[in-house]
Amino acid sequence: MRLELSAEDQAFREEMRGFFTTEVPQEIRSTVLEGRELSRDQIVTSQRILNAAGLAVPHWPVDDGGRDWTDLQRHIWHEEMQQAGVPAPLAFNASMIGPVLAQFATPEMKRRFLPATANLDIWWSQGFSEPDAGSDLAGLRTTAVRDGEDWVVNGQKTWTTLGQYGDWIFTLVRTDPEAKKQSGISMLLIDMTSPGLEVRPIELIDGGHEVNEVWFTDVRVPGENLVGEVNQGWTMAKFLLGNERVGVAPVGAVKRALARAKQLAGAQLDDPLTRARVAELENQLLALELTALRVVANSADGAPHPASSVLKLRGTELQQAVSELILDLAGPASLGARGAEDSDLPGWARRSAPTYLNLRKASIYGGSNEIQRQIIARTILGL
Ligand SMILES: Cc1cc2nc3c(=O)[nH]c(=O)nc-3n(C[C@H](O)[C@H](O)[C@H](O)COP(=O)(O)OP(=O)(O)OC[C@H]3O[C@@H](n4cnc5c(N)ncnc54)[C@H](O)[C@@H]3O)c2cc1C
Repeated sequence: MRLELSAEDQAFREEMRGFFTTEVPQEIRSTVLEGRELSRDQIVTSQRILNAAGLAVPHWPVDDGGRDWTDLQRHIWHEEMQQAGVPAPLAFNASMIGPVLAQFATPEMKRRFLPATANLDIWWSQGFSEPDAGSDLAGLRTTAVRDGEDWVVNGQKTWTTLGQYGDWIFTLVRTDPEAKKQSGISMLLIDMTSPGLEVRPIELIDGGHEVNEVWFTDVRVPGENLVGEVNQGWTMAKFLLGNERVGVAPVGAVKRALARAKQLAGAQLDDPLTRARVAELENQLLALELTALRVVANSADGAPHPASSVLKLRGTELQQAVSELILDLAGPASLGARGAEDSDLPGWARRSAPTYLNLRKASIYGGSNEIQRQIIARTILGL
């Protein structure tokens, strides 16, 4: 097997690297590289810079603002972006609702939403999960009932990431309670300023506020905000979740974190056990990187390859392992998580425990790793 970039792809890599490292403000990239929390403004600014250069949504259809790149070019774009510490375009916009609208929406709906979605003029939230409807998503209970021209929505969504910033939320709602679970679901776009919609924060173990509950009490939604046909929501949900999985193998980001861990380790690398642990992780990461390239090389027409489940599974496992290594390198200093910015403890050490705790999520969202194992067993191993 020969895995080497052609001269053309190498030039493309350099072009991406040049752009990301010079056009996106250093202050934003440092926030990412040092593992600090990005503000809403930083995320918006960065995405708008990318969008102005045609680099925010290259995977969309060309007619909707995408680029006619090969899968390998998209992979390089993504990897260079992560390596440079450029925040990836907001996944809810770029990887989730954007491609769904491009595929299923009417031309009018596309005109209304797609440019604003690419440019992050609208910040989207994902309103799929509910209590008792996570892995078993088809069990969702939030209802939408037709009343004249409108839909009236009642129910609760949960784990809505960054819902506190959301302008609009794309939701799955039950529109036919009599039909078989999957057949009675529709997709509705809901303005988050609608009366009756309430966002409630969920406090997390890392001390951060990243996820929310979203409650709907008699929220009126114009009929035109339905995506596709009534009761066809499951088709769109499957399309969206397939794309979601492809984007969650953070190879570039984990490589960057591991390289940084080596720098931070300093004299601790004299310890043979620590050295062996780093070497082991580097080898596993290299294997994942090569697998990612093989998956990219074999995916047909941009459709998610079933092996993307392997990438999600291993990518998140390694991401968690690297965060654990950094926590161990910080040692007792990691307990200073609540310390002020002017603390004597280095920032990376103070952030290591919240980061470690926060990354426990990676094996749950985007389809939990147990579910990925089942997909691998069924579709790849044929068990
Ligand atoms: C930080 C975070 C952010 C999130 N953001 C969003 C968001 O913005 N929008 C949104 O809609 N959702 C979001 N989610 C929800 C996420 O998609 C769900 O948490 C996920 O699908 C798992 O569902 P659950 O939490 O209900 O767990 P459950 O489905 O109840 O699973 C609990 C455990 O059982 C295992 N399990 C379940 N079924 C099976 C099975 N058949 N076989 C083997 N094991 C199984 C699971 O793998 C898991 O370990 C987020 C979740 C987290 C943690």
